[in-house]
Amino acid sequence: MAEEKEKGKIRIYKSLLICVPAVFLIVLVFIARVQGSDFTETPAPGIENGTGLYETGSNDSSTNQETMSLSDGTGSKAAGSGESSEESIEQKEMPSYKISFINGDPLPKKTAINIKYGKKIKGMPKPEKQGYKFKGWYTARSGGEKIKAGEASTFTHDIKLYARWEKLNKAVDQSTRSLPVLTYHQFIDTEKGEKAKADLSADYMPVSVFKEQMEFLAGDKYYTPSWDEIYDYLKGKIELPKKSVVITIDDGAASFYDHAVPILDKYKLRATGFIITKHLKKDSIQKFNSRYVSLQSHSHNMHGGNKNKLVTNQPYNDVLKDLNKSVEILGNSDAFCYPFGYKNDSAVKALKEVGFKMAFTTTYGSLYPGMDPYSLPRIKINAGMTISEFAHQIKIA
Ligand SMILES: [Zn+2]
Repeated sequence: MAEEKEKGKIRIYKSLLICVPAVFLIVLVFIARVQGSDFTETPAPGIENGTGLYETGSNDSSTNQETMSLSDGTGSKAAGSGESSEESIEQKEMPSYKISFINGDPLPKKTAINIKYGKKIKGMPKPEKQGYKFKGWYTARSGGEKIKAGEASTFTHDIKLYARWEKLNKAVDQSTRSLPVLTYHQFIDTEKGEKAKADLSADYMPVSVFKEQMEFLAGDKYYTPSWDEIYDYLKGKIELPKKSVVITIDDGAASFYDHAVPILDKYKLRATGFIITKHLKKDSIQKFNSRYVSLQSHSHNMHGGNKNKLVTNQPYNDVLKDLNKSVEILGNSDAFCYPFGYKNDSAVKALKEVGFKMAFTTTYGSLYPGMDPYSLPRIKINAGMTISEFAHQIKIA
């Protein structure tokens, strides 16, 4: 009996050994079929039909990987593709493009770097050329777009970049934006019947015109630098905002504080009066009192009407005394204005000895870094100038 029972048990084990794997096999086949139908209906994660960087092409999971390739840049850019697409870009090895650098004359020298789309451009060469300032790398020999290091590359093909050079004047760096210094003299209120001196009509600026000019500068957000900033600009130590202008008013006539100071205050524009201190009436210095007005020397008494008493033709010690007197009255020695624009070595020596850092002539022109600070040009603004001529003078400077 016991033997019969043993044989029965063995039979059951044998049938189980056959049945269990068979059931597993059936279940596996069933699961495989169900999953197969799911794949054909759902796109692979990270692929957005039609909007992404990739061509989705077929929905077949087995071919999605192969169809993931960058298009040739026509009509499909990274913009518009979702975050998930960008993750896919990271996962996929990006193609690399070559940037060739062309220095141009006199000795063409080529270097190249490899860059990937969307990655920061690193390792751009900084060439040097005697007598020239390197302005940057551009996509064309003239015009084109400037490509800067650190920017993300948008190139989807190999590209050549061209060095842009600017010729330097040996002494003066004319590659930067120049700084115009405007010159005014007298102001008249024509509405109140004030008239210009017949022989000097260009020097007598109607108040309404001056107001219009200052309104233009303030409206266009022009910056009026301080004397320390102007000096540092000339020495190449700082760059000034592109729209910078210096306003100077010569001689220190009463019409300056009567008419010009209130307008400068209104538009918050800094200006400098070059004052002939001998001609200052008692207490009139207070009338210039404005946080926007600086008073500098136009000599104490070397602005001789018949030009026989000037810083250029008087004994050196007399010039020193005269300059010191004007500094004592005004309390400033940042800038000097040569009476009638007359300048010579002796006058420059005296200015340096007294401590002036800069001096202006009546020569036409704008300031550039590297200029001789004792021979600075200006732009005279004449009474008859229209606002468009005024704007043009400043913009071409
Ligand atoms: Zn003068």
